[in-house]
Amino acid sequence: MAWSLLIRGGTVVDGSGAPGESKDVAVEGERIAAVGAGLAGEAARVIDATGLMVAPGFIDIHSHSDLFYHACPAAESKVRQGVTTEVVGMCSFSPAPVAPGRAELVRAWAGGTGSQLPIAWESFGEYLDHLRRLGPSVNIVQFAGQGALRLATVGPDNRPPTPAEEAAMERHLAEALEAGAFGFSTGLVYPPSLYASTEELIRLARSMARRGGLYFSHIRGEAAMLEDSIAEAIRIGEEGGVPVQIAHIKAAGRENWGLMDRALGLIEAARARGVEVTADVYPYTAGSTKMDNLLPAWMHDGGVARLLERLADPAARRRAVAECLVDGERWLTFSGATGWDEIVIATCPRAELEGMSLAALARQAGTPPAEAMLDLLLAERASVSMVIFSQSEDNVKKALAHPHVMVGSDSIGLSAGPGPHPGKPHPRMYGTFPRVLGRYCREEPVVSLETAVHKMTGMPAAKLRFKDRGLVRRGFAADLALFDAATVRDEATYADPHRHPTGIPYVVVNGQVVVDGPRFNAVPAGRVLTPA
Ligand SMILES: [Zn+2]
Repeated sequence: MAWSLLIRGGTVVDGSGAPGESKDVAVEGERIAAVGAGLAGEAARVIDATGLMVAPGFIDIHSHSDLFYHACPAAESKVRQGVTTEVVGMCSFSPAPVAPGRAELVRAWAGGTGSQLPIAWESFGEYLDHLRRLGPSVNIVQFAGQGALRLATVGPDNRPPTPAEEAAMERHLAEALEAGAFGFSTGLVYPPSLYASTEELIRLARSMARRGGLYFSHIRGEAAMLEDSIAEAIRIGEEGGVPVQIAHIKAAGRENWGLMDRALGLIEAARARGVEVTADVYPYTAGSTKMDNLLPAWMHDGGVARLLERLADPAARRRAVAECLVDGERWLTFSGATGWDEIVIATCPRAELEGMSLAALARQAGTPPAEAMLDLLLAERASVSMVIFSQSEDNVKKALAHPHVMVGSDSIGLSAGPGPHPGKPHPRMYGTFPRVLGRYCREEPVVSLETAVHKMTGMPAAKLRFKDRGLVRRGFAADLALFDAATVRDEATYADPHRHPTGIPYVVVNGQVVVDGPRFNAVPAGRVLTPA
């Protein structure tokens, strides 16, 4: 029989955590047709994988490509890392559902790129159809953002839902699950997600328990509140009757670095009593998000227009400074007390500021750093993102080594097409997966190669209840990443982030060779996946 693709001579690291074995992999159409030593048969194409590892395509269990599929359905910076599936709708944000008449509210909430978003959908199902028409090069697993559910019902205000609004929220979530959502996500530091009480979230979780929905949590606090916040996420899963994923686990802020062991301990204790809780981590000590998240929650109440009013109001600014300035020199954020030199402008309408720390911006402006930040957010209408250094290398390694922590990039798939690339985004957009394989498997080993691959494939696949992805097995989807264990490495840095990794010469998505040596084929190989 003739196969469409035969990958010959490589070492199959199958994603289960088992040791690699010399095997060939045959693909027919979108599926793996055979796995075995010395496969004999005709194939339309043969890839010589001598010296390469043949792994399942990586599943980015925590991605934020949502808005970027519109401009870059190829998600090139992800696929070049070996990623074949992205989990989006994270941290409370999803582009759907959109309640009638509320598109403008969603655009303002999305900010940045999202402020131009051509919203041509209302229901979650309509949005998934829209995604399909975009022709992505990666598979997409879409969650419903609990912020979107709240915007569609309560709106942007800081108040509990009425019983009718709560029923509507549950209805929106049920529709989303029906259409193909895998569950809901929170971002309990981001408005309007953070306005939800624990009890509101338990009820929302309970409403989807019967349908097998998953709860992915950006928790309420990753700094001093870390333990309480992990306990809250676990409680939502335990009382709501749903599995939990703790997103991008970290102990943020130097004074909180010691909390990581206890955070991991809470996960172990919950698992021991039968709660399915797992976590993910990115292999960097800096995080990244929108800069207006440095502001206290009350400034966001009522949405972006109200935020801008407060940024222009001297009394509101004084209150923010009084609440957040620590020792006159650090800013108390969701990441703990952070120095101004540890907060770097990543993307900004004023491109000349990208890559500059707030300390440097303040020196240039001749104002105190807090004023420089407030002025910047006001002038740029809060459309500024940042890279924020807040974590310890030891904790990154500890999380990565933990048996129930998988790898997620917490980032966006960008196109590297011709021309200059804007901004100084977090290098994780280009480097997460090869950085784990290069730095943390080979250079400063904290996990074995097989374990690292498992954390990128079989483990997230199990979390998502995939029956036919995440392993190199006959009958499974032909999502494959071929890499050279001796040379694979991330090339993207904070100073020079727009650089693809080396050592990943082939990436196959549903049987189509998307990364083909030096060539990137932006074909619509991806599928919008639905729960098994
Ligand atoms: Zn998050």
